[in-house]
Amino acid sequence: MGYAHEDMAGIYRQGVSDDRLLSVAEHVRGWLFGSAHRLAPAMTKTITPRRPDPTWFPWSLRMRSNLGFAGAVLGIVFLLGPARDARSQEAAAVSAEQALQKLKEGNERFAKDMLERKDVGAARRAALAQGQRPFAVILSCADSRVPPEIIFNQGLGDLFVVRVAGNITDPFILGSIEFAVGQLKAPLVGVLGHESCGAVNARLAKADLPGHLGKLIREIQVGADLPPERAKALPLAIKNNVLHHTALLTQRSDALKDAAARNQVRIVGAVYELSSGKVQWLETK
Ligand SMILES: [Zn+2]
Repeated sequence: MGYAHEDMAGIYRQGVSDDRLLSVAEHVRGWLFGSAHRLAPAMTKTITPRRPDPTWFPWSLRMRSNLGFAGAVLGIVFLLGPARDARSQEAAAVSAEQALQKLKEGNERFAKDMLERKDVGAARRAALAQGQRPFAVILSCADSRVPPEIIFNQGLGDLFVVRVAGNITDPFILGSIEFAVGQLKAPLVGVLGHESCGAVNARLAKADLPGHLGKLIREIQVGADLPPERAKALPLAIKNNVLHHTALLTQRSDALKDAAARNQVRIVGAVYELSSGKVQWLETK
């Protein structure tokens, strides 16, 4: 359509009047209305746009009418777009297994430098303004190297992310996850630790930190019987901390415990490797 109109505009600018114009006009008219006969009377005379030929003005009006009609069609398509997205969003409910698979596939793309382009445009924003339906909750460390949307290659509205240093749980974090599971019906919760976590390392070092930071670090659980060497102990401590807080979600929250018992949510732990970009999923009950 655009090509044909550009062709015609070019012909007008040049003041050309020949059979070529008739051919293009018939084509456009046929495309818009499926028949050329309504245009025929206006096209029986030679068209000379630069002169005030009376046949030019009806044709100009008709062309504007055609453009208006095409614009209206595009407008309707545009307006229906967000509604269709909203409906598909409603229908986008996935199982915990499907959600986990989406995370695994997204992380594989990320680790292989084969990121899939995610829609963050106006239409997607408009659809999400009507409501959200994230397919997973991620409780991750706040570390700048571990942004869940990026390492799982997901887009707007896909993940409900709660971040705090050391990926620990507290009443407000539990409340956030209860909301995502209970109200937004997210079927999967992932607790995500990561390699070289400074918060876990601080706990291993038994650092006596003041203020809120000290309080946070004391919530980290590194586990028992760790090797004396810090380099060997840290990966185990990170994994233990993830498993500890994964278990705490259902121990500290009745709502999450009920949802898990009813198979409305699955809770899994994972550790992200900084250098490889890969997420290792941990076996949990
Ligand atoms: Zn960390």
